[in-house]
Amino acid sequence: MIKYEPAFEIRDLVGQIANSLGMAHIDLSRLACFRSTGSASRAIARCYALSKIWQQALNTKAHYIIEVISEKFDRLSDSDKEKVLIHELMHIPKAFGGGFRQHDFVCARNVEALYKQLKMHTFSAAPQNSILR
Ligand SMILES: [Zn+2]
Repeated sequence: MIKYEPAFEIRDLVGQIANSLGMAHIDLSRLACFRSTGSASRAIARCYALSKIWQQALNTKAHYIIEVISEKFDRLSDSDKEKVLIHELMHIPKAFGGGFRQHDFVCARNVEALYKQLKMHTFSAAPQNSILR
């Protein structure tokens, strides 16, 4: 059986990554992070959105969840964890409206580019140009 628990340290890390990469569209007040255990999934992490029809039914704005699968994610190196979280963040479109960006955009090449930018950010100010803009 799958169990979920809030992962506040993942949310902190996701927040740092989003800020460092200038992802101003990521509304951290509407982004939750969970860690699951007991999943049979092959995935390392997943991104969920509250879709438009749910937003309307519940009379609320879009929310997103990033789930990390403990058995797969926790044993990764710090850099691989960051790349996985960049990948999941990239699925969230600029509109932050409940949709997803697909794997034509969310691909290893673009993740790698943003990861490089993230590492450069450690030594300099905010990035001047980003593939996200
Ligand atoms: Zn993906």
